[in-house]
Amino acid sequence: MKIVVDYDECEANAVCVGILPDVFEVDDEDNLTVHQEYPPDDILGKVREAVDACPKRALALKQEDDA
Ligand code: SF4
Repeated sequence: MKIVVDYDECEANAVCVGILPDVFEVDDEDNLTVHQEYPPDDILGKVREAVDACPKRALALKQEDDA
């Protein structure tokens, strides 16, 4: 599974960072970075939580072959 970000929608409010700080980072210039685009299976539950929690619906989790 791959984390896909719609950077046009992301408003850098860091909700996802609060859920998974090892995966998501928002820097001082409000740029979102995804450190693990292909998250390991054992954190997929948390990734889904972050996807669902994003107030801008800017995150998605996709199968690698249709991403
Ligand atoms: S929760 Fe959504 S809008 Fe907020 S920083 Fe993460 S991706 Fe961007």
